[in-house]
Amino acid sequence: PTHITDELGIALSNLADSATGVFTPTLRLGVTGLSRAGKTIFITALVHNLLTQGRLPGFAPLADGRFIGARLAEYPDATIPRFAYEQHLAALTANPPTWPESTRRISQLRIVLKYQSAKWWSGMTGPATLNLDIVDYPGEWLLDLPLLGLSFAEWSAEALDRARQPGHADEAAEFLRELDGTDIGKQANDPDAERLANAFTTYLRRSREHGALSTLPPGRFLLPGDLEGSPALTFAPLPQRPAQARNSLHAMLENRYEAYKAQVVRPFFRDHFARLDRQVVLVDTLRALNTGPAAVSDLETALTAVLACFRQGEANPLLRPFSRRIDRILFAATKADHVHHTSHDRLEAILNRLVASAAKRARFAGAQTRSIAMAGIRATSEGTIREHGETLPTLIGTPLAGEMLDGTTYDGKTEIALFPGDLPERPDSLFENGQPVALNFLRFAPPQRLERNAAGDPVLPHIRLDRALDYLIGDWMA
Ligand code: GDP
Repeated sequence: PTHITDELGIALSNLADSATGVFTPTLRLGVTGLSRAGKTIFITALVHNLLTQGRLPGFAPLADGRFIGARLAEYPDATIPRFAYEQHLAALTANPPTWPESTRRISQLRIVLKYQSAKWWSGMTGPATLNLDIVDYPGEWLLDLPLLGLSFAEWSAEALDRARQPGHADEAAEFLRELDGTDIGKQANDPDAERLANAFTTYLRRSREHGALSTLPPGRFLLPGDLEGSPALTFAPLPQRPAQARNSLHAMLENRYEAYKAQVVRPFFRDHFARLDRQVVLVDTLRALNTGPAAVSDLETALTAVLACFRQGEANPLLRPFSRRIDRILFAATKADHVHHTSHDRLEAILNRLVASAAKRARFAGAQTRSIAMAGIRATSEGTIREHGETLPTLIGTPLAGEMLDGTTYDGKTEIALFPGDLPERPDSLFENGQPVALNFLRFAPPQRLERNAAGDPVLPHIRLDRALDYLIGDWMA
């Protein structure tokens, strides 16, 4: 099939940008990561810090005194949900503060940045403007790219193969039973399709809950966005038997699989992914480390699948129809406030190792990458305790209600000091004895007492958000 219409669409949209009179450069920043990686927190913190000119010493335009100001603006595409910035900020700054709702679907936000160019010698006088378009989307959706190259028969064979592997018995048994009890040659009907799709979705969900942090495609089955319950999401892999009638259940599900590819997966890559300039991939590295070697290798597999999408169009034939132009990718280990700052560089090194093998396999060509350990919102502060004549660095914070450690269950109101444990010095000595890294890992409530700046705005504390920002947009504001 020809994809000329895809390319035409992209070319036209680029034209439309410049047809609105004064040309304002627009940088499209994609923010992704698997569920609960920290996308919502990262974007809320980033926008708030830009709007209020927060503490961002590592962000050159602000550090140089060239940053003039920022404001939110209408997003040009009115059909895409807006990132609920105000709502998320309200949750974080409420009394008591709570963590906002996580990303469930794609959303976007435009922030207009005014600054003084550092290139005064280039004849640029007066303030310059940059539109920063932030696109938030579930990393699970990237796992769907390989489906574009697979027929229903091929995908079914892969998916059923996986479900029948010995390790998956617990999660997949029910789905496989449903499948065995269904005559796929019978007349197509919706109740049967729904029953199979539900059983398959339950299997996918369970396999994620049982120790696996990654997910299997189709990505929308776990994060359907606005498509929940729609026919394009009501299918399941089926064993292939020769010559099924055109009105059979088998044919119905095959059509729906093709519809999912054509009407859900392809438009996402063409309309959103292919238009990004920069990308940040958030990774909950600490949670995987804390869970153990299996979770880490699982995360590595998922990241490899996600990163396959960032290959140059040439290297990845599935992306060839979409012009691709991401030139910088930042990998960020989130929630770095769960370890002492002496471990931040180690966390960076561990993430670097995790994505290095993935990046090698995905053969990055052209795009720069960097790894960073950061916290969009810092929920802990640091102190020391003396124990058995030793001085130990501690984290001070309020564990979320229901969090447990060493037989204590926390009530969500009590501040504690905790020795979080150290990350290993060398990333290759992560699991020398097959044991998880010994971290005291508790989820903390958001910071309870926020400082205010001179204008009366709350100051959201962070870790290395300024460096992340500088890498992602600093050069566009040079
Ligand atoms: P996503 O939108 O699904 O990627 O994830 P969220 O941004 O909603 O984050 C999921 C949860 O992780 C939040 O509810 C917080 O409990 C926690 N979290 C995210 N970012 C941070 C952070 O910077 N520091 C801390 N302490 N917790 C975080």
